[in-house]
Amino acid sequence: MASDEAETDETPAFWCDAMLGGLARWLRAAGYDAAWIEGIDDAELVRRALATGRILLTADTELARHGAIRSGRIRAVLIPAGHTKFEQLRYVMRALSLRRRQPRCMACGGRLRPIPRDAARPEVPPRTFAWCREYFRCVRCAKVFWRGTHWRRIAARLEAL
Ligand SMILES: [Zn+2]
Repeated sequence: MASDEAETDETPAFWCDAMLGGLARWLRAAGYDAAWIEGIDDAELVRRALATGRILLTADTELARHGAIRSGRIRAVLIPAGHTKFEQLRYVMRALSLRRRQPRCMACGGRLRPIPRDAARPEVPPRTFAWCREYFRCVRCAKVFWRGTHWRRIAARLEAL
């Protein structure tokens, strides 16, 4: 994984509304820090977006009319209805002129750092460990990742962006 990709203050990070958990995962795969909590209510979502300065992504037209968004205190993108999760990703990336970056943790959006193969061993199924050489650990939640078949499917779809 390339380490020359500088993370700057301008790299956008996101809060996804309760309906957009799938979009949050796609954003992480595309290299962006996207937070999502199952069942989070709008008031809490607005509070967290204000506190963190993250861009709020919502498919809820009512929420998009919230005062904090209309006044510009929260930057938000309204996701059109009827999109698949992948189309939602494409919509956000076009709307904000984002390019694909190094993938982040699919569980929490944290950055992934390469780790030695032996360090990954206890957390990897033996059959995977037998063939896979490269492993990564999330700096935030410590989950271990590798480029298995699931990851390859995701990467192939991202190529289409
Ligand atoms: Zn993580």
